[in-house]
Amino acid sequence: MTKSSAGGLPHPGVKPATRFVTGGSDPSSFHGFVNPPVVHASTVLYRNVDDYLGRRGRYTYGRRGTPTSEAFTAALAEIEGPQCAGVTLLPSGLAAGSLALQSALNSGDHVLVTDNVYGPTRKFCDTVLARCGVTTTYFDPLIGDVATLMQPNTRAIYLESPGSLTFEVQDVPAMAAAAHARGAVVLMDNTWASPLYFHALDKGVDLAIQSGSKYIGGHSDLMLGVVAANAKCWPRLNETVFTMGLCVGPDDMYLGLRGLRTMAVRLAHHNQAGLKVARWFAERAEVARVLHPALGTCPGHAVWKRDFTGASGLFSIVLKPVPETAVHAFIDALTLFGIGASWGGFESLVIPFDCDNVRSATTWSPGGPGVRFHIGLEDVDDLIADLERGFAALAAAR
Ligand SMILES: *Cc1c(COP(=O)(O)O)cnc(C)c1O
Repeated sequence: MTKSSAGGLPHPGVKPATRFVTGGSDPSSFHGFVNPPVVHASTVLYRNVDDYLGRRGRYTYGRRGTPTSEAFTAALAEIEGPQCAGVTLLPSGLAAGSLALQSALNSGDHVLVTDNVYGPTRKFCDTVLARCGVTTTYFDPLIGDVATLMQPNTRAIYLESPGSLTFEVQDVPAMAAAAHARGAVVLMDNTWASPLYFHALDKGVDLAIQSGSKYIGGHSDLMLGVVAANAKCWPRLNETVFTMGLCVGPDDMYLGLRGLRTMAVRLAHHNQAGLKVARWFAERAEVARVLHPALGTCPGHAVWKRDFTGASGLFSIVLKPVPETAVHAFIDALTLFGIGASWGGFESLVIPFDCDNVRSATTWSPGGPGVRFHIGLEDVDDLIADLERGFAALAAAR
């Protein structure tokens, strides 16, 4: 499931959005068809014993790569940019984070992890990594300088900027410089911004992780993970994923590649619509704070402005204190927002949240209930009208 070369880009110098359309595309390989075939494969046959013993042939076994996986990983590598030495596919975003950590760490190592990290990744560190003899220290995402937290055996630092519930934006270049100065590698969950809006590998990240279940898929119909590595980290990442036998089914790879082709235009809409709704929330009397990286009320906003080229459609608000029943009435009254985990599809979503079980280095006590929104591709005025109905229900319930 790997593609080890992003060198010699066929369309040098094109803008990022163009790479989502052209990346890895080679219709001449597929009789002129725009898209690659979906190759369902395990066995690859050889012409004779000699070829078999020499493993001669472009493809050797389904798990080791197919025309479908190559087309997809080549596209992803081009999108990540010239620093990318290889991309590996995993069955979920969680697996992408876990395997990237596994590839960067040995028994006896120490890892620094941002306290706003995706909850199940925290669980991986506290259980599986701990059993492998790796210790984890969580740190305040807004700390700025991680140098003082580095121990002699700190071999990796794991960032998630912004956090996907509370949206703290981290100073990735500064943290990466501190990590690199002490020989540690930098991993980052880049699902929120994607390489369209944050060029992780250019900002000092060695292993850039995405949940492909979100914007890459874009239609809430697949589970997928992606790790892009620079030349320093690619061999170990490739070895780790390969020896664990991890691979992705051809239909899901195809859906991922299909999603990529429209991802830049979808993100442009999520960006604009999300900002419009976030600004609307900021004017509402019921709202104490809007946690959207493009707004000044979001922790790390100045860093976002410096380092990011856009925002996706996911952000949170903090309501002024109201009883829990009023929060539920607000959410239950919404007709265009589904209540459910995940995000990045075409549809708008909403969930209530707190951080009671997912923080250890910091406490998150914003002074009111947290509600997270994903702004989908519906007409944004319809969404705002729906939210107005929600606030009417909230007022009636308090
Ligand atoms: C959803 C998500 C993941 C996990 O991805 P799955 O594909 O659901 O396993 C990891 N990180 C972030 C920031 C996410 O939002």
